[in-house]
This record gives sequence, C-alpha cells and structure tokens, in this order.
Amino acid sequence: MTDTTNPIIKFDKVIKRFGDLTVLNELDFEVKRGEKVTIIGPSGSGKSTVLRILMTLEGIDGGMVTVNGEPLWHEQGPDGLRPASEAHLRKMRGQLGMVFQQFNLFPHMSVLRNVTEAPVKVLGLSKTAARERGLELLELVGLSDQADKYPHQLSGGQQQRVGIARALAMRPSILLFDEPTSALDPELVGEVLTVIGRLAEEHDLTMLLVTHEMRFAREISDRVCFFDQGQIREEGTPEELFTNPSEARTREFLQAVL
Ligand code: ADP
Ligand code: MG
Repeated sequence: MTDTTNPIIKFDKVIKRFGDLTVLNELDFEVKRGEKVTIIGPSGSGKSTVLRILMTLEGIDGGMVTVNGEPLWHEQGPDGLRPASEAHLRKMRGQLGMVFQQFNLFPHMSVLRNVTEAPVKVLGLSKTAARERGLELLELVGLSDQADKYPHQLSGGQQQRVGIARALAMRPSILLFDEPTSALDPELVGEVLTVIGRLAEEHDLTMLLVTHEMRFAREISDRVCFFDQGQIREEGTPEELFTNPSEARTREFLQAVL
C-alpha cells in the first residue's frame, strides 16, 4: 500500500437498479492508492456490477463514483445523472484495466496483436513501440514464446495470462479482476494466480479483485470485503475476516466456500 490519505476509488451512496431489482443499495466503498482489495460474496450480490460501473460499462441511478478524485459521471441533475462527455469518459476509462472471467480476447488476432491493438489505436503508440512493450508484457506473464499464436491455440490459463498482459498494456493505475480463474480447469488456476500475485507486489498498482480463491485472497489482499445484497456486510484484513469474522452471514458464507 503506498498512499493512505486519498482514496483512488470512491463509491458514495451508489444506487444501481436493473428494472425493479436494486443491485446496489447506497453502497459506500473506498480503495486507497496502491491498495489490493478483494471482494468476496455470494453470486448475485453485486460484485461484478461494481467493477462494470468502474469501467463505465454500466451507469448508476444515484450517488457518486469518483476515480482519482474526479466523478465518472457528472452530478445528479433534476432528471437523473447527467452523462459526462465522451472525452471525459475516455480519460477516466484509461486509468483502469479489467481482466474478465471469459478472457474476451480478439479471436482473429495473434497473441501479440491482442496486446498491442489498444495501445496503437487508443494511445497512439507507434507499432514498433507497442510491439516492444507487448513483448515485455508477454515475457512478464511467461508467454514470450506464444506471441504469434492465436487465442484458440492456447490453453485457458495461457489465454487469461494474455488477458492480463493486454490490460497492463494500457498502463492503468487500477487493475480490476472479475473472477479471473473461474472459467479455468483446476490445474490451470495456479499459473494465473502466480501472475496476479506477482502484480500484487507492485506498490503503485491498485488492484480490485473479485474471486472465490480464498487462500489466494488471503495471501495477496490488504483488505477483504464481504458483499451481500449490494452492501458491504463486513470488511477487514484477511486475518480478521477469514479467521475471526464478526457477522453470522460472513461465517455462513465462508463455511460454505472454504
Ligand atoms: P455477482 O457478480 O456478485 O454475482 P452481479 O453484479 O453480476 O452479481 O449481479 C447482481 C444482480 O444484478 C444479479 O441479480 C443479476 O442477475 C443482476 N444483473 C446484473 N446485470 C444485469 C443486467 N444487465 N440486467 C438485469 N439484471 C442484471
Ligand atoms: Mg460476477
């Protein structure tokens, strides 16, 4: 953890509805710069929604979300939240990278191109510079020898490591992971967790991770948040939450998954 003063992510009484369903009910949630935070909780509790809101893949129905002190959307107007300009959203989005459960690689592009495409198209990096950085990142995730292959030629674990390299290529200050190992065969989980664990040692990188890998969460997190019905029911250090949860609901959940 590097900074303990200003939160880099702040949810302030955030409301999110899908039709009649209130998924986030005045959620207050903060992440500090450099902090590694894990979200755990039952299916449907709103974990992915929190990450999708940060990526501006979803809007909100009330409250305020700020990244680096700036609101993602402008303030509440008389007729709901006013949208920010496209330029503002692009700028805000550029600070975050996301690794999805289902990898979401471009199937028709080589591994290297999957990593270099956005830096060239969005950041305007030269092809040479993007290639150099792409190869470095593939090296970091242990895939330098797979650069010219296509996603379907790789194992799920390798594909997910490409997903991580691709997210890093945009040089985000915040990296979001949504159950990055849930789609993998058990024997491939370790290689992906190893890469994520290595990233967790980077002091400047803020990480927000949704996972069911409790042992891993315990190893890498500064803080664990237990989500239930769109609220944080309990949070604390991994030690506190896993060994001595104070809420009955947390204990119940942990008993079911551990
Ligand atoms: P989690 O990731 O914790 O399993 P989600 O954030 O994906 O939960 O979803 C929370 C709730 O919102 C679930 O009940 C889910 O069915 C609902 N939901 C999520 N996305 C949508 C959507 N696009 N339309 C309607 N309901 C949705
Ligand atoms: Mg989810």
